[in-house]
Amino acid sequence: MRASQFPLFTSRETPADAEIVSHQLMLRAGLIEKIGAGLYTWQPLGLRVMRRVEQIVREEMDRIGAMEVLMPAVQPAELWEESGRWSLYGPELLRLTDRHERDFCIGPTHEEVITDYLRRELRSYRQLPLRYYQIQTKFRDEIRPRFGVMRAREFVMKDAYSFHLDQASLEATYADMHNAYTRIFERLGLHFRSVGADSGAIGGSVSEEFMVLADSGEDEIASCTACGYAANTELATSRPVAPTADTPLPAEERETPDVHTVAEQCAYLDISPMQVVKSVVVMADETPAVLFIAGDDELNLVKVAHALDAEDVRLAEPDEALAATGVPRGFIGPKGLPEGLTQRVDHRAAALVNFSSGAGRADWHWINLNWDRDLPLPPCADLRTAAAGEGCPCCDEGHLVIDRGIEVGHIFQLGTKYSESMDARVLDEDGHKQPLIMGCYGIGVSRVVAAAIEQNHDDQGIIWPAPLAPFDVAIVTIGADRSPDVAETAERLYSELRAAGYDPLLDDRDARPGVKFADIELIGIPHRLVVGARGLENGAVEYRDRTQPENEQLPVADLPQALG
Ligand code: ATP
Ligand code: MG
Ligand code: MG
Ligand code: MG
Repeated sequence: MRASQFPLFTSRETPADAEIVSHQLMLRAGLIEKIGAGLYTWQPLGLRVMRRVEQIVREEMDRIGAMEVLMPAVQPAELWEESGRWSLYGPELLRLTDRHERDFCIGPTHEEVITDYLRRELRSYRQLPLRYYQIQTKFRDEIRPRFGVMRAREFVMKDAYSFHLDQASLEATYADMHNAYTRIFERLGLHFRSVGADSGAIGGSVSEEFMVLADSGEDEIASCTACGYAANTELATSRPVAPTADTPLPAEERETPDVHTVAEQCAYLDISPMQVVKSVVVMADETPAVLFIAGDDELNLVKVAHALDAEDVRLAEPDEALAATGVPRGFIGPKGLPEGLTQRVDHRAAALVNFSSGAGRADWHWINLNWDRDLPLPPCADLRTAAAGEGCPCCDEGHLVIDRGIEVGHIFQLGTKYSESMDARVLDEDGHKQPLIMGCYGIGVSRVVAAAIEQNHDDQGIIWPAPLAPFDVAIVTIGADRSPDVAETAERLYSELRAAGYDPLLDDRDARPGVKFADIELIGIPHRLVVGARGLENGAVEYRDRTQPENEQLPVADLPQALG
């Protein structure tokens, strides 16, 4: 590609609303352009990087025998009603109505659609196991889209789904996926870790996240200094809210009719405590804040989960709760965020919880919680509930240290959550109908681009890991207008590099050398060759590795082999 035909829309100024370095650099380097909250155009330069991520993901999915499929972004509400998530998913699900007044959503994930596909098409258990993947646009109406494409509303995900007759087969595919993810993130040149995770709104029991380590990461990872155990602390703090139905209640609580534990409420409504937690969003900051409305903001769910576990939970009729808290009536309801969002309510906080049985019933309740103190992490000896600073629950030797991470991948053993509710079954060898056992596996393809920049940059700009770079090598001409030798050598190098399999950018712009160098550094091209009249007198071009501070002189005759 020639820079004269491939405009680099770079900028020297740091955009005011970009808080983290990847967001700043993606805007400055002209990779993305914002068109609305959490909505971005991928400019040609950025798209080249995303395509490179996709390519590696595709190769590794193909390698483990997954088939590529493409499902629609717009999904009928009926499928989500069948799975129960139409009412449970909360306001992160963007719902829309067509001209015939039928309800749809824009897919935040595709479990329902793929389950529907397989229940229609699967003929025999002999066709199992099956693995599918797609690379596709998702929409999640994030409550706080931020950090550019890191937490966007519209973003690109690789999502994969597997179907099995038995648990052993699911576990085998889960292990293959784990290995494929490890290869993908290694090939992308990222510093990452896989950690035990909470299954969130997707569901299932076993799940692991792939975390790119970075100080700006929104997740916290606890890892053992001795045995390598690692878990998202979101998991550590959200587990204790899952009491069993037989958790005994303190006597005084049992005697108070309007006080219920989460366990009691869940037993009464026949839903899992995680469903309750997943349907609450907290808006909390240093001072006591309003807890309100259904949703799925995992950052804050940690706090809700903990609060629900720690406090007596008083159910009140919405009107009573509204009167007690002074929250305006408009707060109630599943549709969007009403006015008065940040209104404070003394030292008391209120949570609006959508208790849904999953069968389309959605009862709205206010929950009042004390929110006037920092809640401690719960003490717990179980591996899944390990918390920061403890002795490691796995080996009892090391202690847990905390790192920050960016969630770039998440794999789940779903079990029969979707196949049971959506009646996706197959006859087994003995002629018995069995629900399909499922797994699902996601990678935030567009988020990976931002995560890579968080780990690879300096004051001058991005330093792409070679497999992600939009161009492998830049050829910068100096004084090409005055020296035919410069122009001719640059052209020759350009075609030789292409012939050798490189993807070069020939910076043939009529611009000052300083401007060209700054652009090439900002957009992070791994290798730079400078062709100038003075160097050519000695048969040399100037070479700079983006990771190195010094230039080298390379004999023109040695190129392109000298690039290695
Ligand atoms: P997060 O905890 O960051 O909200 P999630 O757990 O909700 O992510 P999953 O449902 O596990 O996300 O989706 C699979 C992957 O999609 C995530 O691991 C992440 O890399 C990516 N992803 C999720 N939400 C976003 C988003 N808003 N913007 C960009 N990528 C996202
Ligand atoms: Mg998450
Ligand atoms: Mg999320
Ligand atoms: Mg996740």
